[in-house]
Amino acid sequence: MIVAMSEKATEEQIQHVIERMMDLGFNVHKTTGAIQTVLAGVGMPVAFDVKDFEVMDGVAEAVRITSPYKLAGRKFRPEGTVITFPNGVTVGGDKVVVMAGPCSVESREQIFTVAMQVKDAGAQFLRGGAFKPRSSPYSFQGMGLDGLKLLREVGDETGLLIISEVMEISQIEAMLPYVDVLQIGARNMQNFNLLREIGQVRKPTMLKRGMCATIEELLLSAEYILSGGNYELMLCERGIRTFETYTRNTMDISAIPVVKTLSHLPMIADPSHGVGRRDKVPAMARASVAAGCDGLIIEVHPNPEKATSDGAQSLYPEQFTKLMGQLRMIAPAVERSIA
Ligand code: PEP
Ligand code: MN
Repeated sequence: MIVAMSEKATEEQIQHVIERMMDLGFNVHKTTGAIQTVLAGVGMPVAFDVKDFEVMDGVAEAVRITSPYKLAGRKFRPEGTVITFPNGVTVGGDKVVVMAGPCSVESREQIFTVAMQVKDAGAQFLRGGAFKPRSSPYSFQGMGLDGLKLLREVGDETGLLIISEVMEISQIEAMLPYVDVLQIGARNMQNFNLLREIGQVRKPTMLKRGMCATIEELLLSAEYILSGGNYELMLCERGIRTFETYTRNTMDISAIPVVKTLSHLPMIADPSHGVGRRDKVPAMARASVAAGCDGLIIEVHPNPEKATSDGAQSLYPEQFTKLMGQLRMIAPAVERSIA
């Protein structure tokens, strides 16, 4: 059940409603927006009648929610989630953010070089994997803690926010001091134990759509994180497996407006993994902005031919710079701007 309090509801009235909900067996999540407070009751309560809540003082609306994802659903935060970082960058507002960098952190020289390049082109976040989920156990597995230290150092030096993938529960604590956003990869979208643990931390998180996952499954996975109280969550479309073989995955651009309708969570687009081919990445990035994404995550490498992972889909720095110029022209057409 969702109970939207009226604009003028007092704190006492809100508390009274919360207590009633808890008496029924609901777990109550409270969100205070600019205009009103919304209370989401999740769990399996005893039978109840929403009308009892509709008539309570301070209540504007009470609705029984049949959707399986209550906290990820749009009704929980009709105005949309905006995540604000300490340096003032926001995700989910009017501006479309850009995250860019290599698939993997490979060396000090590589990460410092590419960080300067993507910053100069206008990115706000530096991406780079330190722990890599590779299809083959013989492929490069990432620099681990050394890679995280390099990311933090370059983040502090350039002012770029850092996003990097966490692959398992044991890495969470170790990663917290080094990253600004935890990324959960496509292969882990349904690692429910990991999702539950991420729900307990207070660190912005980006959850990628699994390569065989439906949008509903993505939102249910988001629910695992939100139900732990970690509300600073963004979702990411990174392409799904279809029968098409020309591209690495099929970039599901339609997931962007669909998620924006169903959920309040910011939606990031990853055209690099979406198509897997450098020559098609800019078109998908442009289309994603036109479709209403809140941000892009794009692989850029100073020397893609030498990349230890995903070289074929990594943009050359000059290609990325050109793309940023195009995105700055497209964003205003959909009432956005590039941060
Ligand atoms: C990545 O971002 O480099 C990555 C491994 O992505 P995904 O989990 O979408 O495959
Ligand atoms: Mn990659």
